[in-house]
Amino acid sequence: MNQARHAYVTLVTNADYAVGALALVRSLQRTRTDAEIVVMHTGGVDATALTPLASLGARLVEAELLPTSEAFNERHQRVRLHADAPFTKGNKPAFHTPLDNFAKLRLWQLTEYERVVFIDADAIVLRNIDRLFSYPEFSAAPNVYESLADFHRLNSGVFTARPSEATFRSMLAVLDHPEAFWRRTDQTFLQSYFPDWHGLPVFFNMLQYVWFNLPGLWDWKSVSVVHYQYEKPWEKDHPKADKLKPLIDLWHAFHSGEGIPDLNSLENPAGS
Ligand code: UDP
Ligand code: MN
Repeated sequence: MNQARHAYVTLVTNADYAVGALALVRSLQRTRTDAEIVVMHTGGVDATALTPLASLGARLVEAELLPTSEAFNERHQRVRLHADAPFTKGNKPAFHTPLDNFAKLRLWQLTEYERVVFIDADAIVLRNIDRLFSYPEFSAAPNVYESLADFHRLNSGVFTARPSEATFRSMLAVLDHPEAFWRRTDQTFLQSYFPDWHGLPVFFNMLQYVWFNLPGLWDWKSVSVVHYQYEKPWEKDHPKADKLKPLIDLWHAFHSGEGIPDLNSLENPAGS
């Protein structure tokens, strides 16, 4: 298969997530991937925030927010969503706008690629995961970070897709119907759109809360992607900074490119 038709894709709608994407892009480069690395960005992101990503070799593709209706936008506004479907397990940073998440769906319009793997801008990739390009659409890992019940849901921070304008159009039609409320935005939508989603092992999308909630599941020998869901490692006044220090230090090493540790030297959390 022609490797040039494979791409890792992430999304950045503001300068804060561009910070995240820098660590992600650097981490992907280190895995010696054959695929292209694409950063979809909205017009709202400053060129100065994007330049370092291009310098690392990422392809920048402008992608606007979806043309959803006013009523839809109202229902998914940050204040409204946080009130109607509160986050009880962790905190979302102030720079997180729920409505922006839906722009992920634009990757289905990147039809110059045959297969893509989407990765949230708040993740880092530790090992080569190019084999995901041969996995079917739609594959994602379960949203596991607390208990067995989490296996019922997927997490949309890492998933496999096949770009197609027809799929994109069909998604838009389903997404924005009267009264539609996707409580966890793109994640809830994708799970509903692909009810027969294929389950990836959790190691392809290891959520940071596993570190303290389910330490027995954490094994550095298996973890391919670390995903910093809820609080971000570059946030000021990070309420869980003490608990997550080893993971935050790791992210900073990838962000700066300095002091990236030998993966074999990483210690599993106490209790694992
Ligand atoms: N995102 C973005 N701007 C926003 C919100 C989200 O660019 O205001 C993108 C970014 O790629 C981010 C992803 O959408 O990683 C999902 O949001 P986030 O990772 O904050 O959600 P969580 O993983 O905490 O559920
Ligand atoms: Mn995320």
